Amino acid sequence: MKLAVIGKDVSQSLSPAMHTFLFSRFGAPCSYDAVSIAPERFAERAEEFFERYDAFNVTIPFKTDVIPFLKELRGDARVFGAVNTVLVKERAGYNTDGYGFLLMLENAGVEIEGKRVLVLGAGGAGRSCVKKLLDAGAVVSVYERFEERLQAVYREFGSFTPLKEIPIVPYDIVINCTGIGMHDTVGVSPVGRELLSLCDTTVDLIYVPARSKFLEIAQQEGKRTVNGDSMLFYQAYMADCIILGKTPDAAQAKAFYQSFREAQS
Ligand code: NAP
Repeated sequence: MKLAVIGKDVSQSLSPAMHTFLFSRFGAPCSYDAVSIAPERFAERAEEFFERYDAFNVTIPFKTDVIPFLKELRGDARVFGAVNTVLVKERAGYNTDGYGFLLMLENAGVEIEGKRVLVLGAGGAGRSCVKKLLDAGAVVSVYERFEERLQAVYREFGSFTPLKEIPIVPYDIVINCTGIGMHDTVGVSPVGRELLSLCDTTVDLIYVPARSKFLEIAQQEGKRTVNGDSMLFYQAYMADCIILGKTPDAAQAKAFYQSFREAQS
């Protein structure tokens, strides 16, 4: 199969390595391109991807831009209004981030039902995580600095506490869904030691660096820490199950992740 990831800058993306690995594990050889394009050129080039590939993944900032080119949104893509996987023949869009998020937590032994969870950031990823946490029975609070965005997510999903400021109170789990801690904010944590010392578990969706400042502080405080590396892999696993028409299996995904990591080190 001919596959690709399309994004603004995917030159350092782990997607080619992950998907090539997964396809070989599934016994289905593939080629996998990383296509970086300027945001203003996406619309004029979109049809080219439908001609050239059997399926493709979409990443920042094209997860919503691709929707007008599709006939149908399926599953979470319909709920989140964002797509990360496209089946070309059917022109169908899927979103596998939520699956990756839940499997990351499950395989790290993080239970969420009935837990008090603070989500930092209600952007694309934050929104998906909030929905999955609510569906799983967590008691969720969401901090987002952009008031309008916070209210929009609240109107959509409700049943959580919207926060304009972060109170220093205990949470079972704190999840960083902001980009703070990567790129030009490496070494910066979205919240301080005062809060993290009161919490049990910290989860950072960031995977580069592997140990963000947020996780570093939590680790120093003796807390359980989980980074976003396995989420990235599990969302890729789910995407490939969709592309190949396979039923996902959590134990298989975990075994693949372990052997992928071993092969990388
Ligand atoms: P996004 O839609 O751009 O949302 C980014 C969020 O971060 C927004 O809530 C934004 O707030 C907030 N933010 C950014 N800078 C901030 C600052 N200085 N202070 C306070 N809030 C700030 O991006 P996304 O797609 O949700 O991705 C968010 C993070 O998750 C990124 O680090 C991404 O790499 C990671 N991610 C990881 C995976 C994985 O598989 N591990 C999957 C998806 C995303 P405003 O609304 O105020 O700008």
